[in-house]
Amino acid sequence: MPGFELFGDKERKEVQDVMDSGVLMRYGFDAMRNGHWKTKELETALAERMQTNHAHAVSSGTAALTIALASAGIGAGDEVIMPTFTFVASFESILALGAVPVLVDIDDTLTLKPEAVVNAITSKTKVVMPVHMCGSMANLEALKAICDQHGLLLLEDACQAIGGTYMGKPLGSIGDLGCFSFDYVKTITCGEGGAVITNNEDYYENAHKYSDHGHDHMGNNRGAEEHPFLGYNFRISEMNSAVGVAQLSRLDEFIVIQKKNYTILREALSAIPEIVFRTVPDGGEENYSFLSFFLPSENLAQKAHQALSDKGVDGCFYWYNNNWHYYKKWEHLTNMKSLGNLPKDVKEALPDYNKADFSESDKWISRNISCLIKLGWSEKEVTERAKKMVEAIKSSL
Ligand SMILES: *Cc1c(COP(=O)(O)O)cnc(C)c1O
Repeated sequence: MPGFELFGDKERKEVQDVMDSGVLMRYGFDAMRNGHWKTKELETALAERMQTNHAHAVSSGTAALTIALASAGIGAGDEVIMPTFTFVASFESILALGAVPVLVDIDDTLTLKPEAVVNAITSKTKVVMPVHMCGSMANLEALKAICDQHGLLLLEDACQAIGGTYMGKPLGSIGDLGCFSFDYVKTITCGEGGAVITNNEDYYENAHKYSDHGHDHMGNNRGAEEHPFLGYNFRISEMNSAVGVAQLSRLDEFIVIQKKNYTILREALSAIPEIVFRTVPDGGEENYSFLSFFLPSENLAQKAHQALSDKGVDGCFYWYNNNWHYYKKWEHLTNMKSLGNLPKDVKEALPDYNKADFSESDKWISRNISCLIKLGWSEKEVTERAKKMVEAIKSSL
């Protein structure tokens, strides 16, 4: 991660196809496009790779989450359970629909804690949205059982974990709906883009219509199409999809590289008895985009993080203080700072996160460091990095 490190001839060729026809739109212009339908190609390849019946590509991962929720009929006042550790896109997509983001603790998997999910369920809960942060997954078996028992939808945010698996199945394909991001810093990237996958035909039909102003996509005269319900524009362009086609074809190659680099670093850090690695649920395999581990205390984690930085080891994150990934710094959400008026349903029902007790999440995140695994490192660079990391961490203990 990120896939742009290895841009090359494949990406260039796919983009050239689009430039040669000049058709940058995914729909229509049949006669001009020299047979190139890059977005359709991306969707077909993604559905196949993820073993799902349907894939729909859109303009971003945030759009994918919004569309996934909308396609399942989520709207004003519905509650969606999401983790305290994620990216702001989680609550943005929920709020965009007038629904209510209900934050819930994480555990040592760095993802939703199943017991905390159960405690947060109310008569308004409609969806549980686990976020497979930093390449590894939530306990999907436990979450699926909870969802089945309470009649809730399971929506996997697999934006950071594409290529990972659980019980042999691709992450994103296990819930009712799954979402990916192909933004510039993700494992595979097309500049800006994302996708929704599902086996549910109704959700898929809703998704492609909703993301294109409600167009029913019947026949071949766009202007004459019907609009069965209100929609929006979350379309992806053919230029982005062209890059996506090339990158998706390289996903498995990228995962192999990530696993190799991850393994060298992990083996080196295993020599430090104070380090404990994040828990990966039984039956899960990461996509190896990050190496995440815990130090014995908040203080030691901060010292180790500083020592890594002092040694010039870049790409290591201490999420506890991070503005974008941990609830503690989301004052714009907590204080409901929006440009215009928020929907009444949100204002009335949003819990007061200033008073919330997420000490369970704090316990794990305050001790955690996550280090990005790059694709472009040479073996020598990884080995040297491993040595530096061990020295830095040891010196801080
Ligand atoms: C990147 C990301 C998103 C949003 O994707 P964009 O394409 O940047 O909109 C959503 N969730 C998670 C966990 C992400 O990392």
